[in-house]
Amino acid sequence: MYDLDNIAQEFPILKRLAPNGSPLIYLDSAATALKPQCVIDAVSHFLCSHTANIHRSVHFLGDEATEAFEGVRDTVACFLNAEPNEIVFVKNTTEGLNLVANCFDLNGKRIISSLGEHHSNYLPWGDNTYRLAMNEYGQIDFKELTAELEKKDVALVSLSFASNVTGNIFDIRKVISLSHDFGAKVLIDAAQAAPHIAIDVEELGCDFLVFSGHKLGAPSGVGVLFGKAELLENMSLFLKGGSTIESVSSEGVIVKNAPWKFEAGTPAIESVIGLGAAIQFLLEIGMDKVEEKFKRLSKFTEAEINKKLPNAIVMGVQGEYSSGPYSINIAGVSSHLLARGLSDRYGICVRSGYHCAQPLHQHVNAEPSLRISFWIYNSEEDIKQAIDGIVSLINVVSR
Ligand code: PMP
Repeated sequence: MYDLDNIAQEFPILKRLAPNGSPLIYLDSAATALKPQCVIDAVSHFLCSHTANIHRSVHFLGDEATEAFEGVRDTVACFLNAEPNEIVFVKNTTEGLNLVANCFDLNGKRIISSLGEHHSNYLPWGDNTYRLAMNEYGQIDFKELTAELEKKDVALVSLSFASNVTGNIFDIRKVISLSHDFGAKVLIDAAQAAPHIAIDVEELGCDFLVFSGHKLGAPSGVGVLFGKAELLENMSLFLKGGSTIESVSSEGVIVKNAPWKFEAGTPAIESVIGLGAAIQFLLEIGMDKVEEKFKRLSKFTEAEINKKLPNAIVMGVQGEYSSGPYSINIAGVSSHLLARGLSDRYGICVRSGYHCAQPLHQHVNAEPSLRISFWIYNSEEDIKQAIDGIVSLINVVSR
């Protein structure tokens, strides 16, 4: 049993020091999360003892590798409450979104997305996309969504579950039921939500959902696309090549069933093994406990910012829908210089810039912001030190 209060000790990188000799404080988990020892061990054990390619070699190592790889599909299915044949391993959230953008047949209809999306849920959707505005609460306006759906020419609604800039949680249940009322399918970008919110795709009723392994403790190189079985089955191939077909001859090609038809070539086998260990780790902690801790840290961060940085503009809404990450702007102070200062003076890692959400920054007229993003290994003390660091740096880096 893991103890969430002492979970930092499971992350070996936290034992290292920053170049200036201070302890490492990592507050950039929305970019990528640190890896627990059990993930490192699972990958290392697989590489040491079971290395082989999957789904092809008729020898015991091939059997072991295939069994371990397919076992992770079952683990992911359990994590999302889906069926294993509804789980496609992709490289990351970006690839999952591009897969749907390329292979789901829109039948000439439109897509609805929003101006608040990460570039990965913005750029794959072309000219045929209506982008919802974000209101003053950092939320989409359901009247605007309804008005667009009422035109009855929308095939797909693609929105994030939680923003990677404001952390705001969107009412995706309402989006899903409304969209379904008008015959549109729904794709959820859960890159930020999956690490701290329990997701049940059956209960949500979404048609597609994507997330990245590296944001919840797995190695980089693997992400997950969930798609309802009948939708995946009817979609065309994404990448073509080895592993996607049953047979190929001069008479023609017989394509494999989903999900395997979407997994072209040799996948990131070790990363998939690591993803299995990361999900197992989270399930053993309990997603309810993870969610609770995330909420507690969110409340604490909001209060610290309000108390110690009264002039900071916090992007997005505060209060009911508020959660980490927190992106702030301080007039006349470069977020890049603050991030550099936090790193070099105090060993604190945060992110500065547009966080791959430039349209959102433009929409609310914001400069590149400073983002504080935490996960299960962080404490209130980490956040306090970051805010105190910002307070003392402001005078040093003021323009
Ligand atoms: N969507 C959201 C909401 C994200 O936060 C991110 C990563 N910052 C992505 C998509 C893209 O994820 P990846 O880089 O793992 O493909």
